[in-house]
Amino acid sequence: MTKFGTAIFTEMTLLAQEHEAINLGQGAPDTEGPAVIHEAAIEAIRRGKNQYAPDRGTLVLREAIAQHQRHHYGIELDPETQIQASAGATEALCASIMSLCEPGDEVIVLEPYFDVYPAIIELAQGKLVPLRLNAPDYEVDEAKLCAAVTERTKLILVNTPHNPTGHLMTRDELEAIARVAIEYDLTVITDEVYEHLTFDGREHTPIASLPGMFERTLTISSSGKTFSTTGWKIGWFSGPEHLVEAAGLVKQYLTFSNGHPFQYGIARGLTLPDAEFHAIRDRLRQQRDLLVPSLERAGFGIMAADAGYFVSVDVAPLGYTDSYEFCRELPAKAGVAAIPMIPFYTDASGAESLVRFAFCKRPEVMIEAGKRLEKAFG
Ligand SMILES: *Cc1c(COP(=O)(O)O)cnc(C)c1O
Repeated sequence: MTKFGTAIFTEMTLLAQEHEAINLGQGAPDTEGPAVIHEAAIEAIRRGKNQYAPDRGTLVLREAIAQHQRHHYGIELDPETQIQASAGATEALCASIMSLCEPGDEVIVLEPYFDVYPAIIELAQGKLVPLRLNAPDYEVDEAKLCAAVTERTKLILVNTPHNPTGHLMTRDELEAIARVAIEYDLTVITDEVYEHLTFDGREHTPIASLPGMFERTLTISSSGKTFSTTGWKIGWFSGPEHLVEAAGLVKQYLTFSNGHPFQYGIARGLTLPDAEFHAIRDRLRQQRDLLVPSLERAGFGIMAADAGYFVSVDVAPLGYTDSYEFCRELPAKAGVAAIPMIPFYTDASGAESLVRFAFCKRPEVMIEAGKRLEKAFG
């Protein structure tokens, strides 16, 4: 594992602190989610929910997840056998990849990718096969996906809304992945932690809701990004019993269970009325719309941010060819920190000048960051 070294987020956060820069590197929100969620967790602590949660997660949470999937997507789940709580989406990814990927198996991963994926595939002794999504639209190419499949392919790891690009997959793209998964009899693991954070009238579609996909899909999500509770680490996975049971077996020996009182808080959150979810995503869209025009005026090449916490930009128009170099200079030069996207590629050729900015910060912080960037580059 030594080759994974220090995560890029740690390096850029240290630089941000050193220069007292606004940290738009890490995707950690600086606003609070709905207070009723906090109250439900506090109440659970007062009611003595302070010992180990059941290994599958408290039934109240699993029932809330079932209700959430039915209400938002029309997916029916049995809370007893088809849902498992986890220590964030990270543990769900660990448990699912470790249980479904045997040494030497190939896992097709959309590239650029969330940095946790290659590390987990390494732990499982699998082989990551990147499927490049190209700027500016980052769409999945069905022919390239087919070409990436070999005898050893076991899994396709989907992530939509996508980190780090901000791309939301269209139904056409999801149908293309579904066709390939069905044709080659592959299992799909899908990371949907930004499911509620979609903008401009777009809606997230879970790949598990497509015809023929439920039986071969393990769906992962988490409360952290939706409810600004990244520190609680309450996540979950769901799907057909055989996949949930397999991943649950590994999960049992990772943490067994976690965050018992927080599970009650998130159960409350998942059953909130639609208006609350809309308010959350509208606030985030406003924050995006405070940052992106400034980036444009400063001269960055802008890609669409359809969903999630991030906008990806090209620094080539500013005269930089290397996003590492750009991001190492940025805190001193502009008083803002961002993340180079190079580490999110197996081979970043042709993508060396892409940078990711997070917009999950308060409006005044977005405005100030925008001003600083325009001053430094505009
Ligand atoms: C933040 C993030 C995660 C991790 O979620 P946790 O619930 O904090 O473990 C997983 N996948 C993606 C794409 C993320 O951005």
